[in-house]
Amino acid sequence: MTNSIAENPAHEIVDVKTTDCCIVGGGPAGAMLALLLARQGIPVMLLEAHKDFDRDFRGDTIHPSVMEIMAELGLSDRLLQLHHTKIRQLRLQTAENSATLADFSHLKTNYPYITMLPQVKFLEFITQEAQKYPSFQLVMGANVQELIIEDGVVEGVRYRGGGGWHEIRSKLTVGADGRHSKLRQLGGFESVETSPPMDVLWFRLPRQPEDAEGGMGRIAKGHILVMLDRSEEWQLAYVIPKGGYQQLRAAGLEELKKSVVAVVPELDDRIFNLHDWSQVAFLSVESSRVKRWYRPGLLLIGDAAHVMSPVGGVGINYAIQDAVVTANAIAKPLKNQNLQIQDLAKVQRQRELPTRIIQGFQTLIQKQIFTRILTSDQTFQPPAFLRLPILRDIPARLIGLGVFPVHVQS
Ligand SMILES: Cc1cc2nc3c(=O)[nH]c(=O)nc-3n(C[C@H](O)[C@H](O)[C@H](O)COP(=O)(O)OP(=O)(O)OC[C@H]3O[C@@H](n4cnc5c(N)ncnc54)[C@H](O)[C@@H]3O)c2cc1C
Repeated sequence: MTNSIAENPAHEIVDVKTTDCCIVGGGPAGAMLALLLARQGIPVMLLEAHKDFDRDFRGDTIHPSVMEIMAELGLSDRLLQLHHTKIRQLRLQTAENSATLADFSHLKTNYPYITMLPQVKFLEFITQEAQKYPSFQLVMGANVQELIIEDGVVEGVRYRGGGGWHEIRSKLTVGADGRHSKLRQLGGFESVETSPPMDVLWFRLPRQPEDAEGGMGRIAKGHILVMLDRSEEWQLAYVIPKGGYQQLRAAGLEELKKSVVAVVPELDDRIFNLHDWSQVAFLSVESSRVKRWYRPGLLLIGDAAHVMSPVGGVGINYAIQDAVVTANAIAKPLKNQNLQIQDLAKVQRQRELPTRIIQGFQTLIQKQIFTRILTSDQTFQPPAFLRLPILRDIPARLIGLGVFPVHVQS
């Protein structure tokens, strides 16, 4: 089968370039994979739709597993020189009691904490590192719209940007284009969806020196506010039942501010900083994964392959672990010009189980904690499993390190 688009593009192509690996999406998964391939001298092109990496509320967490990977690349010390804060525990706190959801300080790692670093800084750091290798090319403002498919094999992509349509021909195309992945749609991948019963509103408020440190979930009857310490400010996630956003908007910003203060009275003195809905970002929570992560010439990784719920903030480390496993699986075959579909299948084989386990864990937390709080006006009691010493370290391990350790092969 020959795709008609490949032979007869509906638009004029300004130029055609070739590379070994074309990565679509300069998020954590795509940027990390590009770096890992470039440092092995493999021609790699990273296409990012936006003109810069500046993005708000997209997750600023670097987990211990990612720091271990950075250390293997010899980059951890330099990364930690960037301005950041450290979160050693995630706690749940009500007016009456508190419980530790995850304590990273017990983990066997040199980095027993979550590093809070703006994602823009992390992505700039990774791509600047990749720029040191001549086989790396980054194209910003490249919005990929089409796959080139010939005889059922993906042979590259077409993107819009920089004065017209451009074509990239590649031995392998990697879709790392996030939760609304265009490549997932163009490639005809089928997803298994689980729609958790919640949405999240993100905003920021100033943090004061006397405030508590770290990360915590503050709980009052029917309300949850997750607070992440970003040094001078709190990043706040206000959790609402699925579909509740329109009702909240209709009630007005003053109502939102009142319920935030009802959950965390200490914020009363600074809630006035929130004065417009434009300061509030809405995230429709999703959780899904594709049944098959690859087809000839095309592989999906990161959120493109598995959209993560924000519970535990694990999307970035699972995306980066995907990138490492992918580089380990494809670098040698790409160099030896004998990349096979089995090499792509290997990535799914190694990454699907950890993804299923973490998504199962997120569903458990959502059902046992989030849904119970949002749908009940009873005082919340932390679930028993958080108090059992034998189970206590499991959340920190799953969130901080992932299910299996992932290492960079040199
Ligand atoms: C509001 C919010 C808060 C979150 N908080 C956290 C958190 O605290 N911790 C955490 O670990 N995770 C968090 N996540 C999840 C996390 O952001 C993702 O799991 C993670 O970024 C996935 O990385 P990725 O590289 O697969 O995709 P993304 O980070 O989504 O990157 C995809 C990239 O592809 C680009 N792109 C998309 N389409 C195209 C196209 N057609 N052509 C070219 N480029 C394209 C996008 O511009 C983007 O840069 C949050 C997500 C959201 C939405």
